[in-house]
Amino acid sequence: MNLPAWPGLSRRRSACLATVLTILVAAVFPAAAPGHEASRPNLVLIFCDDLGYGDVGCFGARGYETPNLDRMAREGVRFTDFYVSTPVCSASRASLLTGCYPERVSIRGALGPRDRIGLSHAETTLAELLKQRGYATGMAGKWHLGSHPSQLPTRHGFDEYLGIPYSGDMWPRHPQAPKSYPPLRLIDGERIAIPDVTAEDQSHFTERFTERAVSFIRRYRDRPFFFYLAPNMPHVPLFAGEKFRGKTERGLYGDVIEEIDSSVGQILQTLKDTGLDDRTLVIFTSDNGPWLSYGDHAGSAGPLREGKGTCFEGGIREPMIARWPGRIPPGLVCREPASTIDVLPTMAALTGARLPDHPIDGKNIRPLLFGEPGARSPHDTLFFHYRNGQLQAMRSGRWKLLFPHTARTMNGQAPGKGGIPGKYARLAVNLELYDLESDIGETTNLASQKPEVVHQLEEKAERFREDLGDSLQKRTGRGVRPPDRV
Ligand code: MG
Repeated sequence: MNLPAWPGLSRRRSACLATVLTILVAAVFPAAAPGHEASRPNLVLIFCDDLGYGDVGCFGARGYETPNLDRMAREGVRFTDFYVSTPVCSASRASLLTGCYPERVSIRGALGPRDRIGLSHAETTLAELLKQRGYATGMAGKWHLGSHPSQLPTRHGFDEYLGIPYSGDMWPRHPQAPKSYPPLRLIDGERIAIPDVTAEDQSHFTERFTERAVSFIRRYRDRPFFFYLAPNMPHVPLFAGEKFRGKTERGLYGDVIEEIDSSVGQILQTLKDTGLDDRTLVIFTSDNGPWLSYGDHAGSAGPLREGKGTCFEGGIREPMIARWPGRIPPGLVCREPASTIDVLPTMAALTGARLPDHPIDGKNIRPLLFGEPGARSPHDTLFFHYRNGQLQAMRSGRWKLLFPHTARTMNGQAPGKGGIPGKYARLAVNLELYDLESDIGETTNLASQKPEVVHQLEEKAERFREDLGDSLQKRTGRGVRPPDRV
């Protein structure tokens, strides 16, 4: 570095003094350290439930309108290759909030009301990370990371919480529910606000969770905040508010998405009204792809193959939109692979918060978010476990490799209707290689034509198995950490 000398000091001594001062400043004000933003932007993270890749207007949805989400994309960035870590609710949410693959934190599948497992208190959630930097933290919607009182959001870094502890279909009113399901509760903080949620109650949830988000933003307008809005829609059973019912060509599913879009609109309007637009990053995405067996009550994966509960692209690739006026250039489209596991380390980089001491899997995607010239995905490979620890798939650059396993498909099956699901058929998946740049729908298996690519990917998978295991090969990983058990 060629710095001018300080008055009365040699160049060498000046350089030493500058280094010492930098270290001191970084220790006292971590946000001012090189590579960190000096600011503490607000974060509103909107995480839908079972929303498909093709369910938003700017990702190709038909039969209803999403003007607020489309505007958000015009004013910010749309990621075309954004992934969840696994195609199911709890495990996917664990990744979003910890920056880790679900196997690392031992949250698998969708936790039920009687499950004793929850997210470990030894993990650092995004809320806990941001609290280090003085953020107010709030959440509304579906939690699904442990339903015992000791496992709720208020025990994982959220100052306040309004929502349901698991999915809206895990209740006695489901037409095919196991008899053992207890009544569904609406929880406010740690208090039971509604002990036995009805269909009428559920039809107000999107509105109620949005109101909580809006009130939180207004209450904390004068300090940095993080609000996690996790609507339990469009997961079945579908419910739309009265104002939205019967309004779209697509039927109830379209009505539900229009209400979610309106919710996003209310949040954007609140940020504008409070003058927080240019200090707030808003991220919109979902936990997994559409639950296709529900037919007219399921979303669409657009051009992608299959949906929820599979590691084909339709299960794991999600529409993602992010907006931060003044920082994210308007109308940006990012085609680099990125993932929900990247949200936590990116927020750490933006705020100067210290990353957890234990290993995490996500990476800082700030250069992608801000459209920096030449920005590339920080991931050489993304891996996808599903179904009790099976390493089912990986994506590396343009390539997608699926390992032999049994999946499910609705192809050739009678579709579900009116909230009653159809029946999946079993699908034998072989060793399958797809070129996602030319074949987004995973139609042409190139494994036998490209043995060298398969070999390279398999070597990467092998290293990954040592870390996080693979039940398809009866392997346990050295980097797996235990969950919380009550
Ligand atoms: Mg889900």
